[in-house]
Amino acid sequence: MSRIIASVAISGAYKIVEKAETRWKTAIAKWGKNEPIGFPNTAYYLPVIYGMLGYKVEKLGDIEFVLKKCRALLPPRVSETHPLPYLGHALDAGMATYFAEEIIEAINYRENPRFYLTGEDVTPDNIWLGAADDVLLRKRGVEFVDGTAPGFAAILGAAPTPQIAANIANELQKKNLYVFMTGENGGKRFAEQLVEAGVQIGWGVRLVPFGPDVNATVFALGFATRAAMSFGGIEPGDYHKILLYNKNRIFAFVMALGAVTEEWAANAAGAINWGFPVIADTAIPEILPTGITTYEHIVSNVPHDKIVARAIEVRGLKVNVTEVPIPVAYGPAFEGERVRGDDIYLEAGGGRTPMVEWVTSKRMHEVEDGKIEVIGPEITDIPAKSLLPMAIKVEIAGRHFETDYEPILERQIHHLINYAQGVMHIGQRDIAWLRVSKQAVAKGFMLKHIGVILHAKLHQDFGRIFDKLQVKIYTDETKVKQIVEQAREAYAVRDARIEGMTDESTETYYSCLLCQSFAPSHVCIISPERTGLCGSYNWMDCKASYEINPTGPNQPVPKGETVDAKLGQWKGVNEFLFKASRGKFDHYNSYSLINDPMTTCGCCECIAAVLPMCNGIMTVNREYTQMTPSGMKFTTLAGTIGGGISTPGFVGHGKYNICQRKFLSADGGLLRMVWMPKMLKEEIGDRLKARAIELGVPDLIDMIADETIGTTEDAILPFLTEKGHPALKMDPIIG
Ligand code: SF4
Ligand code: ZN
Repeated sequence: MSRIIASVAISGAYKIVEKAETRWKTAIAKWGKNEPIGFPNTAYYLPVIYGMLGYKVEKLGDIEFVLKKCRALLPPRVSETHPLPYLGHALDAGMATYFAEEIIEAINYRENPRFYLTGEDVTPDNIWLGAADDVLLRKRGVEFVDGTAPGFAAILGAAPTPQIAANIANELQKKNLYVFMTGENGGKRFAEQLVEAGVQIGWGVRLVPFGPDVNATVFALGFATRAAMSFGGIEPGDYHKILLYNKNRIFAFVMALGAVTEEWAANAAGAINWGFPVIADTAIPEILPTGITTYEHIVSNVPHDKIVARAIEVRGLKVNVTEVPIPVAYGPAFEGERVRGDDIYLEAGGGRTPMVEWVTSKRMHEVEDGKIEVIGPEITDIPAKSLLPMAIKVEIAGRHFETDYEPILERQIHHLINYAQGVMHIGQRDIAWLRVSKQAVAKGFMLKHIGVILHAKLHQDFGRIFDKLQVKIYTDETKVKQIVEQAREAYAVRDARIEGMTDESTETYYSCLLCQSFAPSHVCIISPERTGLCGSYNWMDCKASYEINPTGPNQPVPKGETVDAKLGQWKGVNEFLFKASRGKFDHYNSYSLINDPMTTCGCCECIAAVLPMCNGIMTVNREYTQMTPSGMKFTTLAGTIGGGISTPGFVGHGKYNICQRKFLSADGGLLRMVWMPKMLKEEIGDRLKARAIELGVPDLIDMIADETIGTTEDAILPFLTEKGHPALKMDPIIG
């Protein structure tokens, strides 16, 4: 490593550590040692510190230990008389930098809790999103694991002009990378430049403004560190494995735009620990490969029109970009983009016009592969700000195609269309909603391109289960109305078939082992009446997934002889479980949380728990971050039971599962439900009502307490008694 840059980095690290010390002393004077401190809604404390040291910072007083670590890590200051440092010194200084920055940011959160926004979106008067909470980590982090996002670019500073910033951002988006933005250069910031250039920013479009200061860079490293712990199953404190996981699996790099200050150099040195190289647009001394990375650590003086290509080349990133022949950019980075107000060229559905999407199977000779028809006006026939009715009908034929696969392909339409830049899609079936922007139309986007997208992508992802596909897009009102009628009939048949399936009448269940990558003993058994606990896989999805990929994570499990019909235990399932959990479990029960419940991984949508005093159960969804009557918040529950273990009294489950007939049926089922968050009640309200009627207690939903009634057992019991909740009259839940 160039000794000059190492000296600069070390000076920067000193400055940042000293800043953290000063901020900490002031904070202690103000609030005392016992003041709670941390980032919002996370089970990972201050994640870089937790990951590297295995140390939990929960109170201001805990920081003292970390500051001592920082001091110990800081190499001797560089002076005339002192020999110049080596790479190892700079890396240690970089690590101390990130510990110190995490402390500074945690104190920022305490001092001004509203400085950073929560959630995925920016607002007109604040664009800084701060630390990603655990909901975001799960949602976005899995994309790093499944390859939808190969990695991220951490951008420091600002480009010379907003237009150059926009070009760089767009190039990175097209490579499916996330862009984390921090720091300032000559009074300008990259994220602000994007806003100025009219580019949408936020998690949804993968352009994430973390914070205005260089300190906020630590949020990027915190995200990467948590990904290693959460998805790589690495224990906190096992810093070596965490750093290696990142080096090998998260393709990230730092892009420094503007004069590299001492603080920037310290951050850059820190990032090299994670295996993330630095690409700069200014002339700074370059650093050639050593043991840490096999590529250059620092590459400087790269022109802006080459900087993305160079970064990708240096980091050795193989970007899998599928070419879809349409005139706008296409990829997952554009999925969350919105089209609003004056930008709208065409709108369909959303309650304004009829719109429907329908995948249906045809005979082989009825389908001409790749044929796309627009029946009625095309975009080129209508003026800006038009409303059109629309029916998207996808006709499929294949020797091995089954009608059961229709809904699975239909569900892809939403994200596949959304991937097109300038096209927004919401909903499905007959409540779909589409907007096409003026910018997309100006580039030549037409309705026929929807067909092009569906043909290309469905073939690519599901080619194994069908042979031919054609798309008809109707925009003629009478025709659309006819298709809506036909589609509704098909939906009714489909729903009745799935609703009518029972565990008893099905001989083969499916496994899902996807989560074993981070919860090695976890095995989901998915039956028609128990969906996967993450909410992403039902029995039908698993069946299709198996057909598409016979050696994949979803394997058929012949249920075999019934061991216990009430608890939901079968011989074939037990045998499969024993093998798939590598001998850790020889049985569990699908329908109980009291008796040897199914294992739970970290990504369940909800967690149910026994409330002994109320003789019932509660459940809480991931989005609800407040206290629950179990005495634990969702994150604590997930941290306690979510590692692929079976914990009597607790179980993870999907939202959909709550209204399925087998939901905890061995423990009394839905009638035992005494508490759930209001937002969850509202979300599943219609199905909840229907199931309550089926159970003969039509007003059950009004008897279930929520946080407006109370968040302790003591507080909700009088309410349950007053309402005459059925759980109170049931057998004791714990015998
Ligand atoms: Fe598969 Fe279960 Fe993980 Fe969902 S929670 S991905 S169904 S293993
Ligand atoms: Zn999981």
